[in-house]
Amino acid sequence: MSIFDSPAFEDHEAAHAFFDPASGLKCFIAIHSTARGPAAGGCRMWPYATEQAAIDDALRLSRAMSFKNAVADLDLGGGKAVIIGDARADKTPAMFQAFGRAVDALGGRYWGAEDVGLSPDDLLHARSETRYVAGLEGHPAASGDPSPVTAEGIARGVALCVRRVLDRDLEGVTVAIQGVGHVGGYLADKLAAAGARLTVADVHADVAQAVARRTGAALVAPEAIFDVEADVFAPCALGGAINRETLARLKARIIAGGANNQLADLEAGRAVFDRGLTYAPDFVINGGGIINIAGEIRALERGEAFDAAWVEAKLGRLVLTLDDILEQSLRERRPTHEIAIEVARSRIASAGPTCR
Ligand code: NAD
Repeated sequence: MSIFDSPAFEDHEAAHAFFDPASGLKCFIAIHSTARGPAAGGCRMWPYATEQAAIDDALRLSRAMSFKNAVADLDLGGGKAVIIGDARADKTPAMFQAFGRAVDALGGRYWGAEDVGLSPDDLLHARSETRYVAGLEGHPAASGDPSPVTAEGIARGVALCVRRVLDRDLEGVTVAIQGVGHVGGYLADKLAAAGARLTVADVHADVAQAVARRTGAALVAPEAIFDVEADVFAPCALGGAINRETLARLKARIIAGGANNQLADLEAGRAVFDRGLTYAPDFVINGGGIINIAGEIRALERGEAFDAAWVEAKLGRLVLTLDDILEQSLRERRPTHEIAIEVARSRIASAGPTCR
């Protein structure tokens, strides 16, 4: 299929392919929109089965970043990079230096950061070739690992949903977390500290066991997480967790987690609503990390130090936006994700023309 025919391409501004024979880097960088500012979004490394699957993932994720950045009221557009490869086996410093050169070639239209499969060290190698990566450590503007801030926003979003739907605080509430890597792990810590009772699953058993040990969570096999009796289901692994098959198995009344692109398709979002579940749209509830990264970009552009108070103010407003979306959904009897997309699209449209 040609890239322009791909349903995922839709209203993108650009899709770039980069190949570096010396390091083996094969990378796509999708830029959905620069209407609100330079496109920003993480870089994911994954052993995609086909190049088309990698392109489609970059395109889907970059659109979600446009929506996420707009809903978080950041002066940033949406973009995403994907590197084809196995993060546990194929990484080299040279590969991430080549990635840095690819980002640099875009001249600041895209800012890269960490996503699934990347570590701070990878970003440091990229940083040696470009200034357009953020989420680093060790300089005054640096914001560090975004995952704890992402998890903080999700924890507040879970508490908000629980208050609205179950009319209680988190003490004794049961939460099933799918995927306890960076975001899911920090989320488990925060929810356990607030008194929630957890069940966790991860395809890497050692990762799940470590989280279970420190939070007292029960452990289940990855495929069994959809059958757990819980008040809240928190998808914190990869996309597509919510589909017709998994939805039929879920016992939770609330879906609120950190993964990007949780709904397999828009029909899945409609089915969630028709079943009477409350869904915190992924690109709203998981915006904390990009707010933190935006804080670093802002500080770098102004030549200032990182301002944690600015980040906290944005995060506080994001939770209020989530509350507004949940309220509007109730009032208008419409799915939350449809309302969130409308909010995002109208903010992007009012920013002016794309491709500036
Ligand atoms: P991560 O790689 O650290 O963690 C993901 C975890 O999910 C891994 O431990 C992995 O083994 C596990 N996993 C994968 N498939 C699974 C399955 N089928 N069942 C159970 N576990 C499974 O990545 P992360 O940074 O924690 O990101 C998690 C999700 O949150 C991703 O969708 C990412 O795009 C999204 N996200 C991350 C951030 C951030 O700040 N890191 C911000 C916004 C959104």
